[in-house]
Amino acid sequence: MGLCARTRIASSFITEAMRRGEMNSQALRREIVKYCQRTWDRGWVANHDGNLSVRLDRNRILTTPTAFSKKEVREEDILTVEIWTGKVVSGRHKAFSELSLHVECYKTRDDVNAVLHAHPPVATAFAVAGIEVETRITPEAVVSLGDRVPLAPVAIPGTLESAQQVRYLCNVYDAMMLGNHGVLTCGTDLEQAYLRCELVEHLARVQRNAMLMGSLRLIPGEWVPELLNKRKKAGLGPEARKSPPVKSPRTLSQLPMDQLLPALVQQLKKD
Ligand SMILES: [Zn+2]
Repeated sequence: MGLCARTRIASSFITEAMRRGEMNSQALRREIVKYCQRTWDRGWVANHDGNLSVRLDRNRILTTPTAFSKKEVREEDILTVEIWTGKVVSGRHKAFSELSLHVECYKTRDDVNAVLHAHPPVATAFAVAGIEVETRITPEAVVSLGDRVPLAPVAIPGTLESAQQVRYLCNVYDAMMLGNHGVLTCGTDLEQAYLRCELVEHLARVQRNAMLMGSLRLIPGEWVPELLNKRKKAGLGPEARKSPPVKSPRTLSQLPMDQLLPALVQQLKKD
C-alpha cells in the first residue's frame, strides 16, 4: 500500500473519530439539558441552584454553567472542563463554584460518567436537621444505594474540605448528603445519577412521614449483609466494581459520620 493511501486511510479514521466525538458531545449536551429541565420541574432547585455534569472522555467533562436557572440552560451554554486542572477549555460562560465536588467523583472513580447535585427540599431538610436519610426504609433501597446515605458535615461549598469529603465518600457511596446543603449523586450515566437523587428524596419523604406518625421502624440490621450481597450481584457498590479497593463497607455502616470519614481515609491508606 502506498504512503498516500495509508495517509488517506489514517486521516479518514481520524475524521471518523472526530465526527463520533462531536456527535457524542452533542448527544451528551442534549442529555444535560433534558435532566436540567427535569431537575427544575421536580422542584429540586431554586434560583441558580444545582449543577450537572457528564464525562466526555478520560480528561474532560461537560458541565452546566454558573448563574443559570436549570430551566434556562441550553445546549450552547454547556462548558467543557478539564478534569485534572478544573480549567474551562470551551464555552462562553463561567464554571460554578461547586465544580470541585463533581471533579472529585470523576478523579476518584473511572466508572462515574455523570454527577448531579441539587437541593431537593425534603432531603435537604434532613441535611439541615442533621439527620441521615435511611436506606433501611425498604430492602430495595439498600440494594440500590447501599447501607446508608452518608451525611457529610457542614462545609463551605468550593473549599478543599468539601472536596475531600466527597472524595472519601464517593469511594463507597453513589449518593450522599452534604450538611446544610443538598444531595450529590453519581452514576454510569445522567439517568442513573438522576434516579438516585429521586430515590434519596423519595426515601426522605417516607422517613419524614413515618417520623410524623411517631414510628420509624427500619428493616432489621441482620438483613443488610444479604441485601448488600444482592447489591454486589447487581454490579453495584464498591465490592462489585473492585476499584477503588474498599474491602468491607459493611463494617463502616454503623459508624457515626464524624467517625466515618476518618475510617474511610484509614482504609484507603491501608489498601
Ligand atoms: Zn449546592
